[in-house]
Formats: sequence, C-alpha cells, structure tokens
Amino acid sequence: MKENIALITGASRGIGAATAKLLAQQNLHIIVHYHKNQEAALTVVEHIIEHDGSAQAIQADISQESDIIELFNQIDKINGKLTMLVNNAGILFQQSTIAALNAEQISKVLNTNVTGTLLCCKEAVKRMAIKYGGNGGAIVNVSSAASRLGAPGEYIDYAASKGAIDTITIGLSLEVAEQKIRVNGVRPGLIYTEINGDGGEPNRVDRLSHNIPMKRGGQPEEVAQAIVWLLSDKASYVTGSHIDLAGGK
Ligand code: NAD
Repeated sequence: MKENIALITGASRGIGAATAKLLAQQNLHIIVHYHKNQEAALTVVEHIIEHDGSAQAIQADISQESDIIELFNQIDKINGKLTMLVNNAGILFQQSTIAALNAEQISKVLNTNVTGTLLCCKEAVKRMAIKYGGNGGAIVNVSSAASRLGAPGEYIDYAASKGAIDTITIGLSLEVAEQKIRVNGVRPGLIYTEINGDGGEPNRVDRLSHNIPMKRGGQPEEVAQAIVWLLSDKASYVTGSHIDLAGGK
C-alpha cells in the first residue's frame, strides 16, 4: 500500500475519472469515489492497477452527511494518510430558467455541490491538519466558469453553487494555511462529459463552442492536468487560487 492517499469524489467518469487516472501516476493510493455506477468506478480502478498504480472504489452519496462520514471512516481503515482531496462530484439540471426553478431542485444542487464540498473539506482537514496529527495536504475544488458568468437562462442555481465553492476555496485556504494544507480551485468551461448530455442534448458542447474564443470544448484530461498540478509540490506556494480552463471564455 502507498503511504499517501488521494480521494477524488465522483471519479467513476468524466473529469473525476481523468483526474484519478492521471494522479495515480504519482505514487499515491487513489480512492475512486462513486455514487451509483460501481461498474464504471471499478473500470477506473482496473485501469489504474493495469498501469502499475494503486486504487480502490468506495461508494457514497455526497448529498448525505452520514454517507460522507462513512466514506472517511472507510478511508481511515486503509494503511496510509489522506493527503489529497478533489471535490469533483457535482450536479446540474439543464434548462433551469428562473421560472423553471423550484425549491426541491435548488436544495438538491446546493446539498450536493456546496454542502457536500464543505463536509468533505471538514473531514479531510480533520485528517490532514498538523494540529490533528496529519502531514498537511492539498485540496482542489472543482468549480465552473458558470461561477464567473452566471449561466443566465440556463442554470443560475448551479452557477450560484459554484460561486459558493469559489468562496469556500478562498476562505478555507486562509483558515488552514498554517496547517500545511493548500486549497485551490479549477473553473472548467464546456468540457466533453456526461454532465452536458444528461439534459437530453448530447451535442451541447459542440452547439455552444462557437461562443468559446478557442472555438472548441475542452477534454476532461485538460482539466485533470491542472488539478494534478495544483495538488503537486510544483504548486507548493499556490493557495486560494483558481485556474480557469474555459478556452478563453
Ligand atoms: P459528470 O456528470 O460525469 O461527473 C459528475 C460526478 O459527480 C459523477 O461521477 C456523479 O456520479 C457524481 N455525483 C453527482 N451527484 C452525486 C452525489 N449525490 N453523490 C456522489 N456523487 C455524485 O460530469 P463532469 O463534467 O465530469 O463533472 C465533474 C465536475 O466538473 C462537476 O463538479 C461539474 O460541476 C464540474 N464542471 C463540469 C463542466 C463540464 O462542462 N463538463 C464544466 C464546469 C464544471
């Protein structure tokens, strides 16, 4: 077993899976967290092991506090220290104009994206902070270009949740800086993943790519590169920062 453990939430597919695979090359034990699709998570684990890495899959619903506590309890049973967390799990509902919004949907988005991120940060800090016997660590929160752009007429509830994540990144980075924990964020633009197809429009990225200065959507691997850099010692003096990965948007 590797000495250091990295948890990537929502790692069975998309940006999370790309991050897990890339990070696995760094001599870490990777926790491929998943929500519903165990088979997909195990495929990511198999890929990592086939490439001489170390990984396992753990299930949890990030919108449920009890599930998050259980996820971290399971990590505690592994031989090694948690030193990296990527808060990647997130949801959006397409076409949620202000008139289409309702309290149930807003709660779901905020519970998963904001409360889930905060509670995962809480559990990770308890394990990473020097004052609690940890070795320090690094956290990356996956935000969105929507936090800057607002997603008007599309999903302002989701944009607001990502704005909250940006604020969490800033506040937590200051709170834990002396504990040898760095906290940064990435803000992807339109990336080719299933989150853009779940609303029933699989070619959404291509339809909107004319609005992107680089005239193309991004690949999950391009986001993963930035996340892995922010987690690495190469970014040792970087905290409270955001990297925009949106093709110039
Ligand atoms: P995705 O839908 O493939 O990934 C989202 C992941 O979150 C999935 O693995 C899903 O299982 C997990 N998840 C959702 N609800 C969960 C819950 N309640 N409990 C546990 N896990 C849950 O899409 P993606 O694009 O890879 O998204 C990853 C992150 O990137 C998300 O936070 C998303 O908001 C962000 N993002 C994506 C884009 C894009 O264009 N793809 C742009 C900006 C930001």
